[in-house]
Amino acid sequence: MILHYDVGDIVTLKKGHPCGENKWEILRTGVDIKLRCLGCDRQIWLTRMEFEKRVRKILVGEDKWISIVHYKGKEAEKEDGE
Ligand SMILES: [Zn+2]
Repeated sequence: MILHYDVGDIVTLKKGHPCGENKWEILRTGVDIKLRCLGCDRQIWLTRMEFEKRVRKILVGEDKWISIVHYKGKEAEKEDGE
């Protein structure tokens, strides 16, 4: 399965951060994924495999969360939505 995500996307993970937040901004993609917790600004690195196992939802537009397994990328969302 191919997951679509990119730098700047906001995602949730299976488990939130200890600070209580579970929203993460993707800062870097590649072999390793760099994430920033939107609650406390802490930055973490996950391997791409770890990230793809843990990621759950992705924020689309203002406040629409969809399961990342159903997300086909920004362009596809534009065609479907609105
Ligand atoms: Zn945090």
